[in-house]
Amino acid sequence: MKCPCCGKEMVKGVVQSVRKIFFTTKEHKNWFLPDIALEDEFTLSSHNWIRPTCIAYHCAECEKVVIDYREKAE
Ligand SMILES: [Zn+2]
Repeated sequence: MKCPCCGKEMVKGVVQSVRKIFFTTKEHKNWFLPDIALEDEFTLSSHNWIRPTCIAYHCAECEKVVIDYREKAE
C-alpha cells in the first residue's frame, strides 16, 4: 500500500489490542457507562475473542498508520 501522504510504499504489519479495536466519531468518556450509540462506531479488528488484530500499514516518515479493515488477519 502506498502512503496517502507521501506516496512511498508502506510497511505491512498489524495493530493489536487486548480488546476489540473500533472506530468511533465520539470519544468514550466512561467505559462503565457507555454513552455512545452503536451506530456511531464500527469494529476494525477480527479475532476479537482471542487476539483482536487489524492488518495495518505504517509510514515512519509521515508517522501514519493505515488500517484497511476489509483485509482480515489469518
Ligand atoms: Zn508517508
